[in-house]
Amino acid sequence: MKWEENIRQVVPYVPGEQPDRPGMVKLNTNECPYPPAPGVKKALEEFDHTELRLYPDPDASILTEALADYYKVKKEQVFVGVGSDDVLAIAFMTFFNGGRPILFPDITYSFYDVWAGLYRIPYKEIPLREDFSIAPGDYHIENGGIIFPNPNAPTGILENLEMIEDIVSANPDVVVIVDEAYIDFGGESALPLLNKYDNLLVVQTFSKSRAMAGMRIGFAIGNKKLISYMNDVKFSFNSYTMDRITQRLGAAAVKDEVYFRETLAKIIKTREWAKEKLSELGFVFGDSKSNFIFASHKEKRAEEIFSYLRSKDIFVRYFKKPRIDNYLRISIGTDEEMRTLVRELTAFLGRRNEVE
Ligand SMILES: *Cc1c(COP(=O)(O)O)cnc(C)c1O
Repeated sequence: MKWEENIRQVVPYVPGEQPDRPGMVKLNTNECPYPPAPGVKKALEEFDHTELRLYPDPDASILTEALADYYKVKKEQVFVGVGSDDVLAIAFMTFFNGGRPILFPDITYSFYDVWAGLYRIPYKEIPLREDFSIAPGDYHIENGGIIFPNPNAPTGILENLEMIEDIVSANPDVVVIVDEAYIDFGGESALPLLNKYDNLLVVQTFSKSRAMAGMRIGFAIGNKKLISYMNDVKFSFNSYTMDRITQRLGAAAVKDEVYFRETLAKIIKTREWAKEKLSELGFVFGDSKSNFIFASHKEKRAEEIFSYLRSKDIFVRYFKKPRIDNYLRISIGTDEEMRTLVRELTAFLGRRNEVE
């Protein structure tokens, strides 16, 4: 068709499937297995539906203020969006606007190359080392911006602040985005570096550690100038992105720190238990500091294990991509879900049932 010459054709991101089967064990999209904070439930129950006739606050002030308070920054340093995917999309549009290629790891969140394609941003993928760690020296080249997750996805590998600082300080003329979707599960945030560097943007999400994937909340923290440029783009695109209910519930989640800490501690404990069991079953993996384990088996192909688990209604994530096509990404569920997983894996791998 002739009209096809005039349209924007893109290769879209493929989100993890969202099956809904009774009794399934869903360990494929890194959601939190526990509910959001009790304060969120209360805020939802108290929400007055008649408010919905009015537009929401375009600045989402109650949420940006709650986040500014929590992270001890000014509210002008906080940008909120409809999931961190929304925040990242705006950040790509705002900061990656030069002619030089932006840089990100070859194995990373698979949305980055999609946004680069959508916005026609040239990019260069920098290979991770054999052990999936980032070699910071590889980012000391001419570029139009840098983005990587820490811990990285889907590897779960955490980099230390020294490494992050090396990259940020070596690239003062471009914006460096650290996507901290999994930082709460045992990592050290790059937020303190904001005092030293004005080219750093830290992005986080409520989808994993705050158990609110279904609500869609993400945020960025950076210096005021970066955030005001992001707001200019946002307000040129869609000003009322976050609805009233989300703003209210998001603020309630941030205020319940005790519940947040308890939930994280439970997930981390389960993760360490799962590491032991998976290793006994012959899996090998790096030391994940996220809410998933990225594992490969010494004998069985990942794809085969994936299909078997699926037949048992246990969903994990498998990426048929170079370098990682023999790995499974397994989200950390409840203790019971993880025991079910280990039981099925034990059965499949033909070993003695070692789960008590
Ligand atoms: C889950 C994830 C996101 C997106 O999270 P939402 O806030 O749900 O949009 C962004 N980056 C990475 C690395 C993720 O794993």
